[in-house]
Amino acid sequence: MNIHEYQAKGLLEKFGVAVPKGIAAMSVAEATAAVDQLPGPLYVVKAQIHAGGRGAGHFTNNPEGKGGVRLCKTKEDVTAAAEAMMNNVLVTKQTGPEGKEVQRLYVTDGVDIAHEYYCSVVLDRVTSRVTFMVSTEGGMDIEEVAEHSPEKITKVSIDPATGMSGFHARNLAFSLGLEGDAFKSAVKFFMALYKCFVELDASIVEINPMIVTDKNEVMALDAKMNFDPNALFRQKEIFGMRDESEEDAQEKEAADWELNYVRLDGNIGCMVNGAGLAMATMDIIKLYGGEPANFLDVGGGATTERVTAAFKIILSDPNVKGVLVNIFGGIMKCDVIANGVIAAAKEVSLNVPLVVRLEGTNVEKGKDLLNNSGLPIIAADNLADAAQKIVDATKQAMKAA
Ligand code: ADP
Ligand code: MG
Repeated sequence: MNIHEYQAKGLLEKFGVAVPKGIAAMSVAEATAAVDQLPGPLYVVKAQIHAGGRGAGHFTNNPEGKGGVRLCKTKEDVTAAAEAMMNNVLVTKQTGPEGKEVQRLYVTDGVDIAHEYYCSVVLDRVTSRVTFMVSTEGGMDIEEVAEHSPEKITKVSIDPATGMSGFHARNLAFSLGLEGDAFKSAVKFFMALYKCFVELDASIVEINPMIVTDKNEVMALDAKMNFDPNALFRQKEIFGMRDESEEDAQEKEAADWELNYVRLDGNIGCMVNGAGLAMATMDIIKLYGGEPANFLDVGGGATTERVTAAFKIILSDPNVKGVLVNIFGGIMKCDVIANGVIAAAKEVSLNVPLVVRLEGTNVEKGKDLLNNSGLPIIAADNLADAAQKIVDATKQAMKAA
């Protein structure tokens, strides 16, 4: 789960990570009023969307104009910048060409920057360790630095058993060439950042740029945070920061039904029980020359209502030209799945081929229900057979269309 920059900075500040003073604004009037609470003489108005590259982006109603991060010298400038951003669509490298509508702003203190650095903390799944990445090449595209000058990125990974120590932080600060007060400030910054990352169950914290000010203080000028969705049950405050307007409508609907759904680019919709079987199903579809349209795990204890919802979510994707239901009924009963499929197929007037492979608890009951449903269901006996059938049927349906 992602949050906005202003929310991330609020969290970082609580853990002692230095950030410039700033105020979130939900309207132009609030943005203007924020000026009175900031020290000045410089202000920065920042569009709050779940995407980076805002500074170098552009608004669709003014493609030649400035982007989503604007330096202002007066209150009038702030009002003008806020008006140019609010409710307009910002396109950046990360939003895709359709862009994102700006509905929130952040007005922050304009800081005197001596140097911009890059700093991120991620969970490295190869080493299974929380890993810091820092670079002197801040403020720019880190992917480009990684590709063209990887030697400019320093990585330090932390053993989870011992946690972060002073020497880790000093190594990081040293690798950036910092000295004196800036060095001390950086050590404090990294230690606080680690604590924040671990205690909040973050999966990514990216500070780009991390800066040293003219007063040798290290600060987070930008902040992107991402959290492990499996930990949100114990991170209520963070869950409350969810901005549903930033989420994919189908993924949101799925989350409300407690379904694990991830939309993909292919055209074969999948409904499977169990994450492992769902992965295997996607693999075998590819093996037979097809492309899955989604990952969907209906879970163990799904009700007919949830299966119906899952089926509707799959079919609401216009790219879906065929559906494969692959259920190995253990805890999940085959008749429940069958009832859900039938109910949903009738409700949405199914017009793409549907292959169903059922196995396990109440399988005969499930098959009977499907056979007597009057739906044009293609039955399959095993996983390979199912994959072959849905790939063929989808190709035929595409040709016929
Ligand atoms: P994005 O990465 O989405 O473009 P950033 O927050 O990184 O947005 O801002 C882009 C650039 O704008 C920064 O690299 C920095 O040079 C400048 N900037 C951002 N916030 C401030 C600030 N509070 N004071 C001064 N300059 C800033
Ligand atoms: Mg940035």
